[in-house]
Amino acid sequence: MPTALITGITGQDGSYLTELLIEKGYVVHGIVRRSSITARGRLDQLFHRDDVYNKRLFLHYADLGDTTTIRRIVLKCVPDELYHLAGQSHVGASFDIPETTCDFTAMGTLKLLEILRDLDNIPKFLHISSSEIFGRPDESPQNELTPMRPVTPYGIAKAFATQMVTLYRESFGLFACNAICYNHESPRRGESFVTRKISRAAAAISLGLQDSLSLGALDGRRDWGYAPEYVDAMWRMLQQPEADDFVIATGTAHSVKDFLAAAFDAVGLQWQDYVKQDPRYMRPSEGTHLVGDAGKAAAKLHWAAETQLPKLAELMVQADVAMMKAASKASDSL
Ligand code: GDP
Repeated sequence: MPTALITGITGQDGSYLTELLIEKGYVVHGIVRRSSITARGRLDQLFHRDDVYNKRLFLHYADLGDTTTIRRIVLKCVPDELYHLAGQSHVGASFDIPETTCDFTAMGTLKLLEILRDLDNIPKFLHISSSEIFGRPDESPQNELTPMRPVTPYGIAKAFATQMVTLYRESFGLFACNAICYNHESPRRGESFVTRKISRAAAAISLGLQDSLSLGALDGRRDWGYAPEYVDAMWRMLQQPEADDFVIATGTAHSVKDFLAAAFDAVGLQWQDYVKQDPRYMRPSEGTHLVGDAGKAAAKLHWAAETQLPKLAELMVQADVAMMKAASKASDSL
C-alpha cells in the first residue's frame, strides 16, 4: 500500500485529500497541531470507520515549527508522498498576524524541505501554493510563468515558499511540486472565508435564524472552484513522471456580488435586502484580476474544473441549510 503524509489534514483540503487517498488504497498519516480544542470534525466520517481509523489513517501531533518532532514523524511513517497543506491561509488575517503567517507558511515549508533533503528515501513532495503569489499581475489569466507580484503578507509568504520548492527541485533534485491553487470552496470551507460566510448567512436568513450579513468589499473578483476537484489535481501531480508546477483553477472570475446573488437565489431571496457593508472587513490591499489558466493541468494531468458558480454557491447553501436543520432538530430532542 502506498503511504502518504499530510500536513494540515484537519483542514478543508486535508480532509478531502484523505478521503480520496483512502479510497485509492493508501495508508494516510496526518500531522495535527496540538490545541485544547479538537478540530477534527471534517474527518469524523473516517474516524467512525473501523476499517480505517488507526488501521489506515493515523494522526500525529506536531507544530510546523517543531522541526525535531516533524523529522521524527517523517522517519517513522516513511511516506511515499508528502502533501504539505498546512499554514495560516486567511489573507485578511495575514495583515493582523504577519509574523505567524510567515513562520508557518514560509519558514514552515523551508523547514520541511530541509528535513526531506537529509533523508535516504525522499518522498515526493507537494506544496499547496496560491493565486495570491500573483497579487496584482500584469497579465490575466495567469499561468505557471506569470511573474509573482504579491500584495498581501500571505501572498508574500506563499511566494517565498513556492520559490523554495522550485529551488529544492532544481538544485537538490527533490521531486517537489507547487499546486498553484486559486480559491477553492466547499461546505467544509472555514467560516470566515467569504463564500462560506455568505452560504451560512443565506441558509440562516432563510430559516429565520439571522437578519443580516456584514461584509467588506463586494467588487473583488475571484476564480472560485470546488475543493474536492482540486485535491484530485494535487494527487495527479505526484503521479507524473517528473515534478513540475501547475496552476489549478476554473479559468472564470466572479465578483463577491455574483456569489451573493447565486447563494441568496438558492433560497429564493435577494441579497440586497440583507447585506451591510462593514469597514472591519475591508483590507489594506487586495489582489486583483486573479484568474487562472489551467491549460497545462488539462494537457498533462487531464484535469479540468467542473463545478463553477452558480452550482458551487447552491451546493454550499444547501449543505448549510441541511446542517442547520439537523442542529436544530438535535437541540429540540434534548
Ligand atoms: P481570499 O481570496 O483568500 O482572500 O478569500 P476570502 O474568501 O477571504 O476573500 C475573497 C474576497 O471577498 C476578497 O476580495 C475579500 O476582500 C472579499 N470580502 C468581502 N467581505 C468579506 C468578508 O467579510 N470576509 C472575507 N473573508 N472576505 C470578504
